[in-house]
Amino acid sequence: MDLDYILNHLGEDREDYYNAVSPPIIQSSNFAFANLDAFREAIANEANATIYTRGNNPTVRMLCKKIAALEQAEDALVVGSGSAAISMAIMSQVKAGDHVVCVQKPYAWTTKLLENILGRFGVSHSFVDARDISEIEAAITPSTTLLMLESPNSLTFELQDLEACAELAKKHGLVSCIDNSYCTPLYQKPIEMGIDIVVHSGTKYLNGHSDVVFGAICANREIIEKIFHGEYMTLGGIMSPHDAALVIRGLRTLPLRLDRSSRSAERIANFLAEHPMVESIIYPHHPSFPQYDLARKQMQAAGGLISFHLKAPDIETSERFFHALERFLLAVSWGGHESLVMPTAAFHKIPGQEDSPLPWTLFRLYIGLEDPDWLMEDLSRAFEKCKQG
Ligand SMILES: *Cc1c(COP(=O)(O)O)cnc(C)c1O
Repeated sequence: MDLDYILNHLGEDREDYYNAVSPPIIQSSNFAFANLDAFREAIANEANATIYTRGNNPTVRMLCKKIAALEQAEDALVVGSGSAAISMAIMSQVKAGDHVVCVQKPYAWTTKLLENILGRFGVSHSFVDARDISEIEAAITPSTTLLMLESPNSLTFELQDLEACAELAKKHGLVSCIDNSYCTPLYQKPIEMGIDIVVHSGTKYLNGHSDVVFGAICANREIIEKIFHGEYMTLGGIMSPHDAALVIRGLRTLPLRLDRSSRSAERIANFLAEHPMVESIIYPHHPSFPQYDLARKQMQAAGGLISFHLKAPDIETSERFFHALERFLLAVSWGGHESLVMPTAAFHKIPGQEDSPLPWTLFRLYIGLEDPDWLMEDLSRAFEKCKQG
């Protein structure tokens, strides 16, 4: 299906609502029926009926159709956060006694789900260095049911070879699931590569305006129906129709935003790589990246995130660099219009907590939609100030 058709027309039955170009926000919890037979028919097929908004809502459903088509999945569900999407997808594939093989250092709340919650229900897990397919295979036990991937991860960007992982999962009868938030379906298509379930934090690029938190689960119809009747309806972590309409609006410009972010980040990564104050950069489409060939093979572009190590002999130097930046906001998350900086030094010296194992030299930048020259001016000025002491 054409990207332009998906983003501008798919799921938008305009004749049903006065031919309005922009979709209506069906802000209703409840839907009434003309007669008993129609009601009975809807109950018999709730996954495809509009009865109650914890199940289906027309505005939310429109977004599901677009996201499924973007991921080339048969169907999709959208939920109240990326974390909810990950939790529902993982929970749908395990029961007491099962084992999950998960990439090392996944998103923090994926770790917490496996360690703090599923452990209580008798589901065990192993974290593996999944850059090496043999490490994954070695961790698989007779009770393993799920392979949980995240490629790249969102700080140091380690990759997994997705085709090899999909093949391995099939060989051992496992379901494979990937957190594809970093790439979006525009830059990486896991289902085409044989992965079963794709989850997203749509809070990042898919919405793209830093004003909605939501998640998505994409898979074949059988898996999606199972999750719909199970975790989705039961846990009830739905997305509101109003937020769905905002995301549909955000999606209209997804290719433009990603392209801008990605091109600017590529330029800024090159600028950083050559700067005398920079020790090293981490950017999957930069030749210095250890898995560069794999990144070129399975990711169409590398997006707006860049990590780098500053030449900082002490934490004060990192703090000086950070304080000299004027055009990057200090904030978590990414994928919006605005550029961000996340210094690892922020995770040192937290009152009452142990220092992060990550060195204070590490910075993560998210490059938003501003002029890259304007951002590089800011970085240059901060490097200068940091050098002067
Ligand atoms: C942000 C993020 C999540 C969590 O998404 P929320 O929408 O914040 O719940 C999950 N995975 C990755 C890779 C993320 O960056």
